[in-house]
Amino acid sequence: MPLYHSRVYGIVQGVGFRPFVSRLAATHGILGSVCNKGPFVEIWAQGTENSLRAFFDAIERRPPERAAVLKVETERLTKPECYTDFQIIESHRERGDIFVSPDIATCDTCRAELFDPKNRRYLHPFINCTACGPRLTIMDAMPYDRERTSMKAFPMCPECRAEYENPATRRYDAQPVCCNDCGPEVYLLEDPSVRGQEAITRVRRTIAEGGIAAIKGIGGFHLCCDATNETAVSRLRTLKHRPVKPFAVMLRDFDVVTRECIVEPHEKEIILGHQKPILLLKKKPGGKIAPSAAPGAPSLGVMLPYAPVQMLLFTYPVDDVNMPDALIMTSGNPSGAPICRNDDDARENLTGFTDTILSHNRPILIRSDDSVMDFAAGEPYMIRRSRGFAPLPVFVKSDWKGEVLGIGGELKNTFCLGHGSLFYPSSYVGDMSDVRTIKALRESVTRMETLLETQPSIVSCDLHPRYHTAQVARGLGLPVFPVQHHYAHIVSCLAENDCHEPVIGVSFDGTGYGTDGTIWGGEILRADYAGFTRLGSLEPFLQAGGDKSSTEGWRIALAFLFALEGPEQAKKTADRLQLCTDREFNGLQFMFTHQVNCITSTSAGRLFDGVSALLGIRTRSTFEGEAAMFLQFAADDWGNTHSADMPSLPALLTSDDGRFLLPTKAMFRELLDLHLAGEDTGALAWLFHAKLAAAIVAGCEQARRGTGLSTAALSGGVFQNTLLLHLVTGSLKARGFTVLRHRLIPPNDGGICLGQAAAAMYAINNL
Ligand SMILES: [Zn+2]
Ligand SMILES: [Zn+2]
Repeated sequence: MPLYHSRVYGIVQGVGFRPFVSRLAATHGILGSVCNKGPFVEIWAQGTENSLRAFFDAIERRPPERAAVLKVETERLTKPECYTDFQIIESHRERGDIFVSPDIATCDTCRAELFDPKNRRYLHPFINCTACGPRLTIMDAMPYDRERTSMKAFPMCPECRAEYENPATRRYDAQPVCCNDCGPEVYLLEDPSVRGQEAITRVRRTIAEGGIAAIKGIGGFHLCCDATNETAVSRLRTLKHRPVKPFAVMLRDFDVVTRECIVEPHEKEIILGHQKPILLLKKKPGGKIAPSAAPGAPSLGVMLPYAPVQMLLFTYPVDDVNMPDALIMTSGNPSGAPICRNDDDARENLTGFTDTILSHNRPILIRSDDSVMDFAAGEPYMIRRSRGFAPLPVFVKSDWKGEVLGIGGELKNTFCLGHGSLFYPSSYVGDMSDVRTIKALRESVTRMETLLETQPSIVSCDLHPRYHTAQVARGLGLPVFPVQHHYAHIVSCLAENDCHEPVIGVSFDGTGYGTDGTIWGGEILRADYAGFTRLGSLEPFLQAGGDKSSTEGWRIALAFLFALEGPEQAKKTADRLQLCTDREFNGLQFMFTHQVNCITSTSAGRLFDGVSALLGIRTRSTFEGEAAMFLQFAADDWGNTHSADMPSLPALLTSDDGRFLLPTKAMFRELLDLHLAGEDTGALAWLFHAKLAAAIVAGCEQARRGTGLSTAALSGGVFQNTLLLHLVTGSLKARGFTVLRHRLIPPNDGGICLGQAAAAMYAINNL
């Protein structure tokens, strides 16, 4: 009988995977063994061809509830029969065989126990089991046992210990197991004598009466208020200095989700799944959520409760507070700073925003913000990969050896530890503009190196010499391997898609430091792990005013007007468009004329800002990405009710250094003329997306002619724009291109750590 040797990668540890394989083997008459090997589970299986096929098919398609099979590698061996039964072999760990589970949302069985008055964990805010509960955020070091988690301060009572030690119970080997007698406790930070039930009731009352509370969850504190109460939500916006950026909303149950939003079947799976990210869903008309939860946005970021304490906020049968069924749940941090994770953080940073703070005494050792996910073409499209996903590794098929660190980007920072062919992106750290975030990055790197037993021999960082991340990287005392920003995006896309061939990399992003010292941002590269060539880019424009240009799109629009029609006419047009004040105009004219504080840029993000300003959608923004976001909303809105053909491919220009240029000036000119002629704003917003998509496709055609490659990899923050993604992908596929895109790694700067780490890993193995 044939013998198969197989490695199963994914979330296969601590989720009952081996007993599942063993039962399956019995069903199909398979002999052999199953063993945990750290990052994978090893299976030896002997049987008939048919039974083996059915056995492996079931492993891949119907794994246990909490498992996620990423990859099954199987080789067929010809060997005489050597098994007489099927065994679960106890694991012996080797160094480098590491697995750290992400945090897992409270399971349905625990939820049922939580609300069962006869259960001894009735209303216990920390209920968990082998299939659910905190993992990454409470871990101090490996191996994963109680002594090395933040549960070490809570010795198990005899009853909990009995469950913990008995393989027949749901809590066998569940490190955070606890109960009302032996577990952590909630309390009010402002008055720690108010604990347990009384604390929860007080917080529920505050929220029900329109107040703002901070609540300690799994990966940090949330700011929370009644999402159906416009006054409360507006007040939170004022206090947080966050006028427009959408808030996430936590809804009591799935019925409330379907009341507020349109849910497709594949989205339902994610909403109810055990990772519980914030999912962007289309709003339904007539919902009860306050308009200022996500002002002007057609979608809402929605999640269900994933920690017991959150469930108790909605439902608490022991008091008479009438709670709303929708709560704002936004990260508890001053803007720019990392999410607060302990009482000192919260006291210092959240007291001013809140009427009460509900804390608890189980320490959070690693911060983990909520993950944010969108859908594109029926598949997940990650915006922020953090709780529930980090530090799940990305597997790149290779014989790479060695250990590396990719320190990540300056905005939306995450970092990535690489260990041979496995790459572990961290949870979300934040924007490096705040010193507290830089400190958090240093701390988290050290902690993850310990947890993953990884000692990098090299660190990769962005090419930009003045980035804080580059400083952190240099401070580690390791050799530093700089990786160009837009190239790092493409390598992250190669790694996620496990592609080892050279590709046409379409890296459309905000701004990044180019190898020529100018600002890059809309780039078409020939790229593989070994390096890249810049084949083409957007036609350059002048970006004036330094950092301000990322939130002041009128500056970009004015730069185009200057280039197209000279200062005198530009002034007249700017006045017609109400782009800026006279004073602002004069300031910018001075910069252009004297070339002060101006830099040549091909930033695709800034191009969106400029067009958004031109069309009068946003001339200035309160956060980076706002202008582009509302430009897409206008285009989607129009596209939903109209149909239009893709424009023909434009002719490309050529730069002095011989690369091709996507003609943005001509595009801007056409939009300007149509806009001044009174064409509908939504139609023009759509037309811009379509024209840009056509230009990208023209660039890919040119690249294909020059290189003979016909695989295009799409990455960079601009591809968060699902309309652009859809238009580019559709058109490329129709022309015979293979298209690689992101799914579980963000296309934005939250994903570049993976590209940095993979490029460094390739370098130490090949260069
Ligand atoms: Zn559970
Ligand atoms: Zn107990």
